Amino acid sequence: MRYCNQCHRMTSGEPLFCNFCGRSYDSKLCPHRHPNSRNAEICSQCGSRDLSTPHPHVPFWLAPLIKLLTVLPGLLLVTASVLLVFGFIRTLLTNQALLFQAVLAGLMLAFLWYLYSRLPHFLRRLLSRLFSRAKRGDHER
Ligand SMILES: [Zn+2]
Ligand SMILES: [Zn+2]
Repeated sequence: MRYCNQCHRMTSGEPLFCNFCGRSYDSKLCPHRHPNSRNAEICSQCGSRDLSTPHPHVPFWLAPLIKLLTVLPGLLLVTASVLLVFGFIRTLLTNQALLFQAVLAGLMLAFLWYLYSRLPHFLRRLLSRLFSRAKRGDHER
């Protein structure tokens, strides 16, 4: 039984192609059904250019999850930045002794922004690794 990430349906047995949308699973197959990697353009064994389209790598629930995990910290950072700017202006106007702390907080926030800019890439790698491990475990059973 295999699950198709393209049309979200199951095909029984050990199928090479989805019964419903005709996508192949994790490899590209030529008309002779030689398996090729996802990024292959030409079959490595017979030279055919007629390769099947594999289903998407990422399962349907993973994309919104990544989006959510990416958007939430972003909103928090925006809020924190706005608060900091106001805090900074107030510090400038009222208590200049705290200026150093305000600058430090600003630097910390800049660092968080930097981390955040790396986040989507990191999450994608982490989750797809987790997912492929789970799937491999499934396969052995
Ligand atoms: Zn399908
Ligand atoms: Zn081939």
